[in-house]
Amino acid sequence: MGRALVLNATFEPLCVVSARRALVLVLKHKAEMVHQDGGFFRSESATLPIPSVIRLKYFVKVPYRARASLSRRAVFVRDDFQCQYCGAVAENVDHVLPRSRGGTHTWANVVASCRRCNTRKENRTPKEAGMTLRSRPSVPREKVWIVVAVGRIDPKWEPYLDGLRAAAPAHA
Ligand SMILES: [Zn+2]
Repeated sequence: MGRALVLNATFEPLCVVSARRALVLVLKHKAEMVHQDGGFFRSESATLPIPSVIRLKYFVKVPYRARASLSRRAVFVRDDFQCQYCGAVAENVDHVLPRSRGGTHTWANVVASCRRCNTRKENRTPKEAGMTLRSRPSVPREKVWIVVAVGRIDPKWEPYLDGLRAAAPAHA
């Protein structure tokens, strides 16, 4: 069995669990099946459809920050593995306002960058270095933590993430 996307009661993507765990939630009436995997789980007493997407019947309040934890990998996923200054393949995480000058290690102040831009920028702000950010860094949307957690987005989950993608800031 694979994995299942768990939606909150509000249809907001919440987390990814094993399909087995998702099935248990459905059997315990804690969640409803939204999308089936197409396969079946067979036990001695029953044959059950394997869930691909489920929706909780109750609302779970999750602090957004808890999910979008700031890691090097998460920054790369958010920035499409591209240097946010020149578009080359990202190798470093750059602090827009350097840490030595009070820059924070937060989503709004870190971007993926290539080694060349990172070195060229040194201890300066992009403006001082004559460099332009391709987009304004921000806390990533749900898609990012799903990719970080699972490594990829199951195509079956796409329709349930569409609203979020539409809400994401346009890429410069
Ligand atoms: Zn670069």
